[in-house]
This record gives sequence, structure tokens and C-alpha cells, in this order.
Amino acid sequence: MSFTKNHIITTLKILSICTVACTVICSCGTREGSFSKKELSLILSGDSSTLMRVLTIENKADSLLLRRPSLLLSEREIASDTYKLLAKRLVTTVSDSTVDGVGLAAPQVGILKRVVAVQRYDKEGAPFEVYPNIRITEYSAEKQTGREGCLSVPDTSGIVERAQSVVISYTCPQTLETVNDTVQGYTAVIFQHETDHLDGVLYTDKLYCE
Ligand code: ZN
Repeated sequence: MSFTKNHIITTLKILSICTVACTVICSCGTREGSFSKKELSLILSGDSSTLMRVLTIENKADSLLLRRPSLLLSEREIASDTYKLLAKRLVTTVSDSTVDGVGLAAPQVGILKRVVAVQRYDKEGAPFEVYPNIRITEYSAEKQTGREGCLSVPDTSGIVERAQSVVISYTCPQTLETVNDTVQGYTAVIFQHETDHLDGVLYTDKLYCE
């Protein structure tokens, strides 16, 4: 009886540890999900030239959402018209002359999916590009520090230490293949800042000095 009771307690402890481990793994951006009804309504609320509202930490509900991890999208969803509209609206919103941003992550407009828009300063013409299912797979040991701001943290900025270069992995929206690419310098900073948003992390969590 005693053995059975201990056995049950031990089993429960192992199950508990497994649940914690699973939660940690799942919160690292490996889970896949569809656009929710609320997300579909947000995306479909305007056309490709319509700005989306940017969530800020000044609003309590916004600040809670900004701290939640984002999910991966299925290939079917990346190929959908809904994704294409989201991608265009992200670029419209971040490149709006009144905000003049260099990057925007989907959770910043209320969409908890692993999608970011980044201005590619390392490419001719510095175009905005949108990356679904993005994650950073390698960070260089070499660091760089620079001042960052965020559309979701209005009217302030701070110094952050980042990797000098990173390897990004994402799903190509055209071929639906996984693509790996190495990015350096300021563009690497933008990728690090934006992918942090997908894990509920803000640059203010990483302030280096003032
Ligand atoms: Zn930001």
C-alpha cells in the first residue's frame, strides 16, 4: 500500500515535470495555430492600404497581449489571401510616414502569429519584407550595441546589446520551403527586436545602459 502510494506520488511528480517541460517547449514558438475569429476580423477590417492599430504598453489589455507568445502558421494559411492581406497591411502600417518604423511584428497589431515585417537595410533600396514562421537559430558571439525604440513603447528609447549577426529561419511565402539566411549589422538588430516580440519580449527587458 505504502509502495503504491509512493509510486503514485512519484508518477504524479514525473507527469508534473513533463507538463512544465512541454509548456516551456511549446512557448518557444513551436506550436502551430490558425487565425482566430478575432484575428480574422482584424485583418479583414480594411484593405491593403489601410493602417492597423498598433498596440501599446500604455493600454492594459494591449500590454497583456504584447506579452503572449505567438504561434506558427500552417503552410495552408501562409498561402491564403488572409495572410497576403496581413503581410501588406503590416508593411502599410510600419512604413506610414507618421510612425516611420523599421520593423513591426504581428502581435503588435493584435495577431499572435510568428510574422514580422523588416526593413532590409542590407538590400538595395532598403525594401520592407515580411517573414512568416520566423525564428532565429543562431546568434553570433560578437555583439553590437545601439539605441532602439518601439512603436508599442511610445516616446522613449534605450540602448540594447544585440548579436552582430544572426541566422534566421522562415517559410518562403512563395515556395513554402524553409529558408535559412545570415543577416548582419543594423538589419540583424531589427530581426532580433521583432522576433523578440513573437516571444512576448520587449526591448525594455534588455536595456544595456542609459
Ligand atoms: Zn518593437
